[in-house]
Amino acid sequence: MTTTPYRPSGGRHHVVIIGAGFGGLFAAKKFKDADVSVTIVDRTNHHLFQPLLYQVATGILSSGEIAPSIRQILADQENVRVVKGEVRNISLEDHTVTADLGGKDEVLDYDSLIVAAGAGQSYFGNEHFAEFAPGMKSIDDALEIRARVTGAFERAEITDDPKERERLLTFVVVGAGPTGVELAGQLAEMAHRTLKDEFREINTKNTRILLIDGGPQVLMPFGKRLGRKAARSLEALGVEVIPNSLVTNVNKEGVTFKDMKTDAETTVPAYCKIWSAGVAASPLGKHIADQAGVEVDRAGRVSVNKDLTVGEYRNVFVVGDMINLDRLPGVAQVAMQGGQYAARTIIDQVENRTSPAARPPFDYFDKGSMAIVSRFNAVVKMNKAEVSGFVGWLMWLVLHLLYMVGFRNRAVAAFSWGLNSVSRRRWQLVATRQQLHARNALRKLRELEDKEGIRSIEVRDNLRFGEGRDTRAVSD
Ligand SMILES: Cc1cc2nc3c(=O)[nH]c(=O)nc-3n(C[C@H](O)[C@H](O)[C@H](O)COP(=O)(O)OP(=O)(O)OC[C@H]3O[C@@H](n4cnc5c(N)ncnc54)[C@H](O)[C@@H]3O)c2cc1C
Repeated sequence: MTTTPYRPSGGRHHVVIIGAGFGGLFAAKKFKDADVSVTIVDRTNHHLFQPLLYQVATGILSSGEIAPSIRQILADQENVRVVKGEVRNISLEDHTVTADLGGKDEVLDYDSLIVAAGAGQSYFGNEHFAEFAPGMKSIDDALEIRARVTGAFERAEITDDPKERERLLTFVVVGAGPTGVELAGQLAEMAHRTLKDEFREINTKNTRILLIDGGPQVLMPFGKRLGRKAARSLEALGVEVIPNSLVTNVNKEGVTFKDMKTDAETTVPAYCKIWSAGVAASPLGKHIADQAGVEVDRAGRVSVNKDLTVGEYRNVFVVGDMINLDRLPGVAQVAMQGGQYAARTIIDQVENRTSPAARPPFDYFDKGSMAIVSRFNAVVKMNKAEVSGFVGWLMWLVLHLLYMVGFRNRAVAAFSWGLNSVSRRRWQLVATRQQLHARNALRKLRELEDKEGIRSIEVRDNLRFGEGRDTRAVSD
């Protein structure tokens, strides 16, 4: 059956935005008073503030506080329609985007397209590690990590086997970028501060936390001095920092890593493993790069033109974590500024102010990078200026509050951080069996479905509501 592509009524220039993360959302907001119609498609119903995921994983914030509803954020912007669906296909030739709305396809016809689908976790070809070591890219991931972390302490409390207790109280974080450093620091704070009086059979202070990285130092992009400071702070908290080491195996029992200088392999039994070592751009990047005849790099990022468009397609912009341009880093500012630039360029063109040939290039303004190491301690790098410790932490605090979306979220986060600073307790430690098992259970279900040629969950839901157009068999 052929579907007539969707175009909003009114005949205005139609912009389709894929992804409501930093790039997509900031682009959509830029169109506020513009004479265009915007459709923004995201596979989730929320805008995720990824820099605070580690606080959800370690019980400081609840998921809603860092993930406001996209619909709510854009409710007052009448020229925007929000569609919850997963984009599966883009045709640059036909100017269409096809999104799967849970078993039902919607085809969108665009005049301009902004692709801001971000990046996922990369296991560098060892995707089987994912079963045992979740990454941290989504709310689901953060809640799974929370369940694994709290579950490790709970199991350690009830086991009689000292070896198993040691395994349960060993946490391994792979990747010592900002996410790995933040997680390792928070795990140490949980073990030494938050949980220390809450168990009777175990001493949570005996917890081992290993932070493993293939590079020579933690926080590589921050330079040697800040890296050393961060490593020293982590070690003071009890984290074992293990540089120059490549993880060669992750399984149910633990982690094996190889010292890259000596080739010596070490296996550490550990129940809870977390992967924060690599990123891979959304596969939509390669999908459009192939059509436009441009390259993607090893992380799947698209080589874009100076105006963030792809190849000859001057109406197709790619922004944020998906781009490979001038060695720009995968950070929120690159995405936000890229999204705003793409929107401004489209508006200028619609208002006949510039032609594609006369467009100014995307000019990224680097506001610096920061990473939190522990309570009252962060490192900040702004051009040549380097700040660490309490002042760095204050800067981190202000900037993160500034960029959080929604007054309520800012207020709640500020309140939670205030409480967390003066009290050792954390109030968001709820962990459920679904959090722990759902990702792997769904993966196994999908494998089974592919083998059997059936679809069981989403299609069944749609059929129940009378929308199903999928002809595949439905299992009970
Ligand atoms: C744990 C963590 C901590 C971080 N900390 C920092 C930090 O402290 N400072 C900093 O500057 N940066 C940080 N970053 C990086 C920063 O979050 C990213 O650079 C930024 O989110 C990139 O924005 P984006 O718009 O490209 O992608 P995202 O923000 O990831 O948004 C992509 C959106 O696209 C949607 N999507 C993906 N595929 C599809 C599809 N096929 N169909 C429909 N929708 C789709 C997703 O649901 C998502 O909403 C961190 C990242 C992580 C994971």
